[in-house]
Amino acid sequence: MTPDRPISDLFSLQRPLRSLEFFPPKDDAGLDTLRATAGALRPMQPDFVSVTYGAGGTTRDRTAQVSSLLKNEFGFTVMPHLTCVGHSRSELCGIADRIHEGGFRNIMTLRGDPPKGSNEFNVAPDGLRNAHELVSLLKARQPNFCLGVAGYPERHPEAASLEEDLTHLKRKVDAGADFITTQLFFDNSVYYRFVEKCRAAGISVPIVPGIMPVVSLKQIIRFTQMCGATLPAQLVTRLEIAAENAEVLETIGLDWALTQIRGLLANGAPGYHLYILNRAKAALALAAGLAA
Ligand SMILES: Cc1cc2nc3c(=O)[nH]c(=O)nc-3n(C[C@H](O)[C@H](O)[C@H](O)COP(=O)(O)OP(=O)(O)OC[C@H]3O[C@@H](n4cnc5c(N)ncnc54)[C@H](O)[C@@H]3O)c2cc1C
Repeated sequence: MTPDRPISDLFSLQRPLRSLEFFPPKDDAGLDTLRATAGALRPMQPDFVSVTYGAGGTTRDRTAQVSSLLKNEFGFTVMPHLTCVGHSRSELCGIADRIHEGGFRNIMTLRGDPPKGSNEFNVAPDGLRNAHELVSLLKARQPNFCLGVAGYPERHPEAASLEEDLTHLKRKVDAGADFITTQLFFDNSVYYRFVEKCRAAGISVPIVPGIMPVVSLKQIIRFTQMCGATLPAQLVTRLEIAAENAEVLETIGLDWALTQIRGLLANGAPGYHLYILNRAKAALALAAGLAA
């Protein structure tokens, strides 16, 4: 088994990287769908793919299962996500060791969200309080891990201000994070301002924009309400007009994402990370649009 290449090496190639995010399905039928999606996406040759980590329960084991599947069956460089939620330090060390033994060298390092119905993050017994502590733990355990962390161009919902959030983001980078992937956003100026503020705060690692092509109005309203991202009025108006026609709505979502990515790359973004929700169609259409 060949260990994955650290994503930090890929950034040094000085070309924009494209990456895709999967989530672990709940059941075996979902796993078959994910296999089909991965097969459809393989010709796109993403630089890496990531696999989210659930809030608890069996989908957590599925993160490891799906990561191995994507690495071993499809040859992708895979970045499993890991959160502090519900884990003691020694459990996190055990998970880190298994990730390393599986040949993975990249981890998206997160605190995780409070469980459903709670507004407050609870630290697990002998657990960690935030992502920066997890970065420190993982780097101490395996110095050759390459770690991504989350950044919030419109501020994390729990942070009192963007400035306060940036202080905590810098701590993650100072603890050893190699790059930042942003929360989804729909207005590129939000990303440009965020990058400017990060640089002014002394954060120099690559900041990869996270892009989600809209496929459903209801769904994107729910997502943005959860994560605090703003939906531009112009996009909402277009989506509302097309609300009854799924195909037209998807085209509008794709056009918006394509325009965003073109602008971001033209303005020096180090690549783009697509929140694909386990679907291939939008990612393939975007790749084709960008190649045209
Ligand atoms: C790219 C990306 C991928 C994600 N993947 C997943 C996933 O797979 N699974 C999942 O459950 N969730 C995932 N999330 C969501 C994420 O877990 C939540 O946004 C979570 O609420 C915060 O995680 P974090 O790692 O950013 O936390 P942190 O960086 O720890 O920050 C959390 C909050 O605490 C504040 N803070 C940090 N340090 C301190 C400190 N020392 N003192 C006081 N306040 C502090 C920050 O300002 C922020 O408001 C993802 C988010 C992104 C952007």
